[in-house]
Amino acid sequence: MSVTEFSTLILNWFDQHGRKNLPWQQQKTPYSVWVSEIMLQQTQVVTVIPYFQRFMQSFPDLAALANAKQDDVLHHWTGLGYYARARNLHKAAKMICEQFNGEFPTTLEEVMSLPGIGRSTAGAVLSLSLGQHHSILDGNVKRVLARFAAVEGWPGNKAVEQKLWLLADKFTPAQRCGDYTQAMMDMGATICTRSSPKCSDCPVQPMCQAYSSGRQADFPGKKPKKTLPERSTFMLIPVWQQQVLMFKRPPTGLWGGLWGFHQIDELEQLSDFMTGLGLMADDYEKLPTFRHTFSHFHLDITPVMIPQAQVENQVNETDNRWVDVGQPIGLGLAAPTKKILESLSNGLLL
Ligand code: SF4
Repeated sequence: MSVTEFSTLILNWFDQHGRKNLPWQQQKTPYSVWVSEIMLQQTQVVTVIPYFQRFMQSFPDLAALANAKQDDVLHHWTGLGYYARARNLHKAAKMICEQFNGEFPTTLEEVMSLPGIGRSTAGAVLSLSLGQHHSILDGNVKRVLARFAAVEGWPGNKAVEQKLWLLADKFTPAQRCGDYTQAMMDMGATICTRSSPKCSDCPVQPMCQAYSSGRQADFPGKKPKKTLPERSTFMLIPVWQQQVLMFKRPPTGLWGGLWGFHQIDELEQLSDFMTGLGLMADDYEKLPTFRHTFSHFHLDITPVMIPQAQVENQVNETDNRWVDVGQPIGLGLAAPTKKILESLSNGLLL
């Protein structure tokens, strides 16, 4: 199959079956496409849609995002996970206002100089919003190309990734680049899916090497397995008059900039923690431990309720806040924090 034949088949398929009514495909701008591309990383379209709509309502343009408070941006991200994406989006919006006069940059190099944007995302934003000629290589495209050309090995491996980039460059047409980009994403998401690909509906099936050898499940190659380390923590929940004490985490690191509960590694540290915050309590109650898994470790979390945590001194209001359980709090929260707060407001724990 020639290079042109490949892209023609993909584009013909797109004209008939591609997705054209997604919210970020309407009144496309580099800004709106950028926001959608960042949200879509590691996240499915159906999950992203309501988040994207709320985000664009609150931050309709670059200036609105750049001028927003980080708490507000993170609040709009609560539940989407991978919060570094939101922090980088916010940081990049500020950089665009300062360094690019508030106009979204239009060269690949400039876009890649922004935090949180790699080559594939930069290519996708510029081709989808401005029709520029750039190839992309997100997870979906990697899967389609790895299967089509039977590229062995895990795409996280640099040499394998390099091979896939060469194929992506080779197949990306000069004309209708934006449609081709969208088509390849759609192909990966709806036809050449991770499990049970729908090869009978695939426009490039006659030349697909994985299909002809029946080895679809072998591509892309799996990441070499490693056992995730296990860590544990106690999340402390001082309670005072139906309010719980939360704090804002440092801007970088795990759950950076999100609001959560104070943590200790050992229960012996509890009294130092209470003294440090000017709190007094006679008792505490350990609640059932639950597991939260990150990409690089498991975290076993034991919430510890501290009822009647009397306030001896005023807590530092910048980083700490007494929060009404059951009231919408408008702050960015990590998934386990949200889970604990929901249990509290449902009366399961209080
Ligand atoms: S034929 Fe099947 S495995 Fe090959 S690209 Fe199409 S959907 Fe993927």
